[in-house]
This record gives sequence, C-alpha cells and structure tokens, in this order.
Amino acid sequence: MNKIYLTVTAHPDDEALGFGASSYVLSQKGHKIYNCILSGNVDARRHRPNIEELQTHTNNAQKFMGAESPILGNFPNIKFNTVPHLEMVQFIEKVIEQVQPDIIVTHHPSDLNNDHYYTSRACQAAARLYQRKPCKPLQGLYFMEIPSSTDWAFPIAGHNFDPDTFIEVGEKGVTQKLKALYAYEGVMRDYPHPRSDESIKALATLRGSQVGKYYCEAFQTAMNIITP
Ligand SMILES: [Zn+2]
Repeated sequence: MNKIYLTVTAHPDDEALGFGASSYVLSQKGHKIYNCILSGNVDARRHRPNIEELQTHTNNAQKFMGAESPILGNFPNIKFNTVPHLEMVQFIEKVIEQVQPDIIVTHHPSDLNNDHYYTSRACQAAARLYQRKPCKPLQGLYFMEIPSSTDWAFPIAGHNFDPDTFIEVGEKGVTQKLKALYAYEGVMRDYPHPRSDESIKALATLRGSQVGKYYCEAFQTAMNIITP
C-alpha cells in the first residue's frame, strides 16, 4: 500500500542531503513525499540566494526528488535555540495533521548543527500527536544523516548516528539526489568535502555495501510499528 512520507528538517537542502535519493525512488513507486523545511522562508546564510531565489531552488529540488510542494516555515536560520520549544512542536503538529504521514523522517539528535538538534527534539515530541489526540496513527519515525553535519558530530554524547535501516536507491536515485542538491545553488563543494559529488556517491556506495546493495541511503530507527 502506498504510504505518505514526511521529512521535517531545518534548512532548504537538508531534505535532499538526507532523503533525496529515497524520495525519488519512493515517489516512483507511488508513495507521496512531503518535505517540511522549518527555515524554508528565511534567507540568513552568507553566500546564499535571496528569498525568491531560494524558493525557486527549493521548488526545483522537489521536482528532482519527486516530492510534493514543500511546506516552508519561518523559523530563524541558525537561531532555532531562540525559538520556544512548544512553538516549534505545534508548527510540526499542524503539518502532521495536514499531511497525515505514515512515516516521518527527521534529523538525528546528535548532529553538529544546533538547528538540526532542535528540529529533531521538536519533531520527536510532535510525532507523538496520534497518542494525544485522534488522528492517523504513525507507523514509523526515523533519523537521517546529513553529510557535513551528522558525520561531523563529535563522539562525546555517546549516541552518534548508528544506521539500522537502509533504502535501496540505485544509481538513478543518487543521480536525482545530486540534481536536487545542485538545484540549491551554492550547496555543493569540491572533494573531499562531504557535500561533493564524489563523497555523496561514496556514502551511498558505502551504505549500500553494508547491506549487500549497490547504493543506499541509511537511517536510524526511532520508532517502527509493525501491524500484522
Ligand atoms: Zn541543515
């Protein structure tokens, strides 16, 4: 049965970095993908495009990933620590009510980027919505890995990204992910940066080889409900 996937991420490009190839292959199979980007309407980063350009980049990226129209928030880029936790939780809850996802994918809580951390915490709280009020039950919650962020976290908390779930994406999935990333002008870097062609493809190769596939994106399970 076709499922509805919702990613909840901090910045435009996170959804492509963490879920871009999976999004493409799942959409090709008839599943629906919605990307909620909490600072999607904010342009505060240096060397980044203005807001209109950013929205164009975001929309173009969704097309390469086979995703629906993006859901964009106004949370302040690089300042998610200044946002009341409840405000962010309630925003994500509204998105959940609107989209009615079966599966939610968000940031890993042990991520070097502070916005990613706050996004993950708020999304974990919001993911419990179906246990607090009548709405569609969630089937799974997963954490993604963001090259140059999740992999740059220092091993001090003892809970770094530890993948246990792999989505086979194929070479075409990796190609579409790269196209989505290039739609976001200024995101990609030269090798050996993790956001380079070589590294993105190498990570997909590595994740695939860990489970006997050619190319995968990897995730860590937070919750997976199996209904017989
Ligand atoms: Zn980010």
